[in-house]
Amino acid sequence: MVARKPLIAGNWKMNFDHMRAIAFVQKISWILKDAKFPVTDVDVAFFPPFTDIRSVQTLIDSDGLAFAFGGQDLSPHDEGAHTGDISALFLKKLGCTYVIVGHSERRQDHHENDEIVAAKVLAALKHGLVPVICVGETAEDLEKFGPSAVPVTQLTAALRAIPADAEIVVAYEPVWAIGSGKAASPAQAQDVCAALRGVIGREMSTDAAASTRVLYGGSVKSGNIASFVREKDIDGALVGGASLDAEEFAKIVQFPRHVIA
Ligand code: PEP
Repeated sequence: MVARKPLIAGNWKMNFDHMRAIAFVQKISWILKDAKFPVTDVDVAFFPPFTDIRSVQTLIDSDGLAFAFGGQDLSPHDEGAHTGDISALFLKKLGCTYVIVGHSERRQDHHENDEIVAAKVLAALKHGLVPVICVGETAEDLEKFGPSAVPVTQLTAALRAIPADAEIVVAYEPVWAIGSGKAASPAQAQDVCAALRGVIGREMSTDAAASTRVLYGGSVKSGNIASFVREKDIDGALVGGASLDAEEFAKIVQFPRHVIA
């Protein structure tokens, strides 16, 4: 069996300017150092606004911090007349490892459909970024179709044309759980994450299904993270609101101290 290293990812959304970003990353690193928590068994990634990335990169590089970072979105195009968009090339050059693709806020606010999401996934891979592909059902979808149908359809579309050996991360984020304080139950999240792993197997390969990290996202906090990562098909979390509180996010990162296998 392939061991999947857990990933705790903090999506800051449109919060923190570059000065606060520096102070915040520094604070997290001090908290983890004081707690004598080595960031070796868990991958930790920050997703700051674009304008903060250079500052975060400089701090992480100069202090040798064991954190990764990425963009919250990218353009499906490499360059050209696309005002306001950011290319995967630029993110890669700034040292990004990851990029979030298809977050529900992009799908809602910017009308990103499955086709656009699939194009963005390919653009990320083309330039060596790991796309963190977000899928999830709304409350209405949940009532109409149950929890798995929409995320499975979205992921199938996002993986159309993907190479079988591509490195991706998938985040199951029920829209009704995002920012609501009402997380999915671990059992429900596990069922959907298992179904998503099945999609990876079908669209990519059995190896990819075994090695790809599938995260849960939606009102994750230090009090519930252990109950999610205990599940067989959940390999970490994409954290929104709680990633803006240094003490709280550092507690989430230290989940292995609270999980009894
Ligand atoms: C998110 O938006 O990706 C998210 C999971 O938000 P929250 O943790 O605040 O629910």
